[in-house]
Amino acid sequence: MSIGEIREAILQGKYEEAGRLPLPDSMTAAFVRKDEQEMFEGIEHGDKDPRKSIHVEETAIPPLGPNEALVAVMASAINYNTVWTSIFEPLPTFKFLERFGKDSELGKRHDLDYHILGSDASGVVLKVGPGVTRWKPGDLVTVHCNYVDMESPEGHDDSMLDPGQKIWGFESNFGGLAEIAMVKANQLMPMPRHLTWEEAACNGLVNSTSYRMLVSDNGVGMKQGDVVLVWGATGGLGGYAVQYCLNGGAIPVAVVSSQEKVDLLNELGVELVIDRSAEGYQFWEDGKQDPKEWTRLGKKIRELTGGSDPDIVFEHPGRQTFGASVFVARRGGKIVTCASTSGFMHEYDNRYLWMHLKSIIGSHFANYREAFEANRMLDLGMIQPILSKTFPLSESGQAAYEVHTNAHMGKLGILVLAPEDGLGIQDPKRRESFGEKVTAWRRLS
Ligand code: NAP
Repeated sequence: MSIGEIREAILQGKYEEAGRLPLPDSMTAAFVRKDEQEMFEGIEHGDKDPRKSIHVEETAIPPLGPNEALVAVMASAINYNTVWTSIFEPLPTFKFLERFGKDSELGKRHDLDYHILGSDASGVVLKVGPGVTRWKPGDLVTVHCNYVDMESPEGHDDSMLDPGQKIWGFESNFGGLAEIAMVKANQLMPMPRHLTWEEAACNGLVNSTSYRMLVSDNGVGMKQGDVVLVWGATGGLGGYAVQYCLNGGAIPVAVVSSQEKVDLLNELGVELVIDRSAEGYQFWEDGKQDPKEWTRLGKKIRELTGGSDPDIVFEHPGRQTFGASVFVARRGGKIVTCASTSGFMHEYDNRYLWMHLKSIIGSHFANYREAFEANRMLDLGMIQPILSKTFPLSESGQAAYEVHTNAHMGKLGILVLAPEDGLGIQDPKRRESFGEKVTAWRRLS
């Protein structure tokens, strides 16, 4: 049996039949190798090249255990965590797999000398393990990346607080950049009916993260009229954050680094945009903060908003922007952070935090409920996929390179079993009813 027969059945819309076919002996996947985890030692961060470390080769089909599913992946996407894994920063992700291997018998399956990447996928369920009742072979799904057993009491109010919680395809093996992925059944969500495979695959990780940060009570619980400073507003997280702001009656002040990105946001209805390159901000350089630059940003924001400071700052660049983010938030404002792309040792002036009663809120991915709600927003056509470009699986390294060098806008999709763009739409009428909004990011970027 070859993967080709499964792909053919899916392309003909025979989803249940695809689920009845026997699994192939092997599959193609994108992975990094343990014996290469030191390949970039001594090389500058920006010069580490994912095209050298990501291999796309034949490998074994993932094993299937209790409460798990094997999914035929039609499309996936590049996330920044794919970049981290491929440049072995801040640490090689084999460390996570080794730790997982020590946890349990089932965890041992993940501790291999290769790590299959990818934390997003859309596709068709092929097989389910013992204990799975809500999903069956033939179901069309998208996958979110919260990989959790829920055995610990700590996770039962919010699964992100479970001590065993992991990010699938980053802290676990068998991710979405493969013809067949292994996931937990509680990672599955229905594929939005009006989207193509690649549009459905690009949202899971960043859409859910932005939803929790801004909309959920576990984040900042954004409300109407809030001024929200969004860093990287045409990047993965930011592209959804600005949509949640507009949907929720908030006022996004978007920060980007080129006129092209400013134009894209203006076309999408984001009126207040700052081009950080044109402004030439240098908040942090050579280990030193420059508070004058924080003030300059604050003035610019007031100029745009008619005098208001941000109620919320949507943070993820980290070291280079964090001091400015804490400074510009209004009295009582909130800085919600989920990352530190430019460095995780932050420095800020704590006087502005305590004297002005601001708070910093840490956030990480999303629980199943939040991911499901964010996916529902896509299905309702209230949030649009921010896919700008696709690559075949064989060019995963190039796609990760483009994200690493910030040469992208929105999300970069990966066609895995889907042979071309534009396939997989289940409800064309519904798509039509949403008009051109669905493809706006692709057309404009
Ligand atoms: P992305 O697609 O690369 O977008 C990030 C954007 O941030 C870039 O396009 C860039 O936009 C801006 N940026 C980068 N460096 C900056 C700097 N030094 N100063 C100001 N702006 C800067 O990445 P993403 O998917 O949005 O992810 C962003 C970060 O969040 C990554 O580190 C990722 O690992 C992390 N993340 C964490 C979680 C979580 O659950 N904890 C989830 C998703 C992502 P401009 O150049 O246009 O300004």
